[in-house]
Amino acid sequence: METATKQSFDVAAIREQFPVLKQEVNGYPLTYIDNAATSQKPLRVIEAVNHYYTFYNSNIHRGVHTLAEKATNAFEATRKSIQQFINARESEEVIFTKGTSESINLVAATYGRQNLSAGDEVIITGLEHHSNIVPWQMVCEEKGANLKVIPVSDKGEISIDDFKNLLSDKTRIVSVAYASNALGTVNPVKEIIKLAHQAEAVVLLDAAQAVPHLEVDVQALDCDFMAGSFHKMYGPTGVGFLYGKRHILEEMPPYQGGGEMIKEVTFEKTTYNDIPFKFEAGTPNIADIVATKEAIGFINELGRAAIGNYENDLLAYGTQKLQEVDKLRLIGTADHKVGVLSFVLEGMHPFDVGMMLDARGIAVRTGHHCTMPLMERFGLEGTVRASLAVYNTKEELDVLIEALKKIAGRIK
Ligand code: PMP
Repeated sequence: METATKQSFDVAAIREQFPVLKQEVNGYPLTYIDNAATSQKPLRVIEAVNHYYTFYNSNIHRGVHTLAEKATNAFEATRKSIQQFINARESEEVIFTKGTSESINLVAATYGRQNLSAGDEVIITGLEHHSNIVPWQMVCEEKGANLKVIPVSDKGEISIDDFKNLLSDKTRIVSVAYASNALGTVNPVKEIIKLAHQAEAVVLLDAAQAVPHLEVDVQALDCDFMAGSFHKMYGPTGVGFLYGKRHILEEMPPYQGGGEMIKEVTFEKTTYNDIPFKFEAGTPNIADIVATKEAIGFINELGRAAIGNYENDLLAYGTQKLQEVDKLRLIGTADHKVGVLSFVLEGMHPFDVGMMLDARGIAVRTGHHCTMPLMERFGLEGTVRASLAVYNTKEELDVLIEALKKIAGRIK
């Protein structure tokens, strides 16, 4: 029997808000299940961008005129809404960036450079996105520090015991995915953070795949940094956030130099602005940050618990139905997952499966999902990945399963 929450979840009404979903692709209704790559945007987000440029486009923070004040207020209102969304103590702890990649690069290039010395260690997991591998490799190489990797099990999970074995008095930074984009695994981040803090290491959570699906609370988690991308949470592309604890951000050197991040500049000496502006050099993507507030509003109005319940239901349904497909192997069977269904069809390249699904109007992602080391761990070049959002339905999963059955039927 369905719960009251699930019954009150009106997916048809939600889909109405997403104009892009109302189209045919290759003669079939679009089945968009590539949400881990980027989610679609509700009309209120699209209209907010339009409204900003139509009525109050202006540069922020420095202007005294009416439009500049309006733009500044709207920009800062989004910061406040992100603060509340992740439950940061203060809005100054929220820095706007281009997205998760830039947020992690920022921490590696500032905190990492400042705090890593030869022989120190940074710990990541074997299921990280390249964005949470390469910035650490770069700073480790520069500083003579070492990158340690928590291994991944056949189910796609990591073990706390393995983490404990890697932790030492040399560990300075632990940087892990809250949820895996390639497998959907939700990592035991709370325990990781507690153990890392006992070893006096700081923890960054790559929450790109967590914030759209889970109730995220940076104070309850006690993470030191968190990175996320708004385009995966029904907002615009090219904008995201870095959360950091105030006392850590204040100690960190700036990332980029330029306008906005300074207090006073002379040719002899420059003093830096307070957080968050110290880390926000140059004119940001004002329109898309402003519109992000509508994406947060969209999620909040549905409620993250209700979104989580609904998506879990879809995930369970899809996981069970995929077992009906001959020659299909699910990659990533962790006990705790977000809505990611990664799989291979034995005897067929993931790219070919993706092309055949596209011919049926089904949008999935194929390949290594920017997790090449993880694919290597499973002995695969890549997978086919269906990833779910709040507007997806069981009927869409049926369309996927039927198409896969036909494709599998052609494998000799
Ligand atoms: N980390 C994870 C877990 C991701 O899924 C992604 C996006 N696929 C990123 C980092 C990078 O995000 P962005 O491209 O928005 O910077």
